Amino acid sequence: MGKFYRDYADFLKERFEGKVQKLTVDVGHTCPNRDGTKGRGGCIYCNNASFSPALASPGSRMSVAAQLQAGKEFFARKYPTMRYLAYFQSYTNTHDDPSRLIARYREALAVDDVVGLIIGTRPDCISPALLAQLSEINSSGKRVIIEYGAESSHDTTLQAINRCHTWADTVNAVNLTREAGIDVGLHFIMGLPGESRAMMLATVDAINRLRPDTVKFHQLQVIDHTPLARMWREGNIELHLFEVDEYLELCKDIVGRLDPSITIERFTSSAPSDLLLAPRWGLKNYQFTNLLNNLLAAE
Ligand code: SF4
Repeated sequence: MGKFYRDYADFLKERFEGKVQKLTVDVGHTCPNRDGTKGRGGCIYCNNASFSPALASPGSRMSVAAQLQAGKEFFARKYPTMRYLAYFQSYTNTHDDPSRLIARYREALAVDDVVGLIIGTRPDCISPALLAQLSEINSSGKRVIIEYGAESSHDTTLQAINRCHTWADTVNAVNLTREAGIDVGLHFIMGLPGESRAMMLATVDAINRLRPDTVKFHQLQVIDHTPLARMWREGNIELHLFEVDEYLELCKDIVGRLDPSITIERFTSSAPSDLLLAPRWGLKNYQFTNLLNNLLAAE
């Protein structure tokens, strides 16, 4: 079956020789939308436990290097030539004193076979000074990729989900990051409260204007122990949660509309079953992608 869009394997192949694997690192960063810097209570759908592997839980108290070594041991037996990207995923990984941040990034890069960093953060939490230091690392032979949670291009939606940043913050962060010569990825959620299909596709148009290197999409999930779960249980919010077929159709349209030079890293997310309240599709991410590829091939 041919390819219908640029996928993450294409993106990695252009940047690294041989196989590379992401290893999640969690150093217990918090988030400006929880500690009061930008807001309190966080985004209404956020439960970080739903995307932090147990190995990297803040309670583990393992150093950055020890977390990476543990991750490497898991893969190295099967793939001795594998190289790694340290993925600072949970919470906001640029929300700390810049010298402490750079020390952690450098600790990760000092681990054998770690060839780059992926830093997950918010678009309102990046400074030209930090980007300048990351740019230096990026030109020293190790690669830096920054991923921003944009979630939607509509400020009304961003307000409804308590993101405490705007689309203008995302545009600014992408432009600054690109000027620093660093690869930039964006993350979006489809099906946020109040968003019509037309609004979701308008977000795709906004992505095309901004031209990030990579994008991730996923369907809105109601995850336990979040404000969204409480509102949903109490009937205080109107949600349109996607069924698989409807979301497949939307993703087909996204693929048809997105600038083909932009890499699509993924379309779905699957929260752990004990935390996921709805929608419960019972599909792994790769199974959804297979269904989508079949649908695209049938066109
Ligand atoms: S989704 Fe990100 S920005 Fe929002 S509360 Fe959670 S960690 Fe903070």
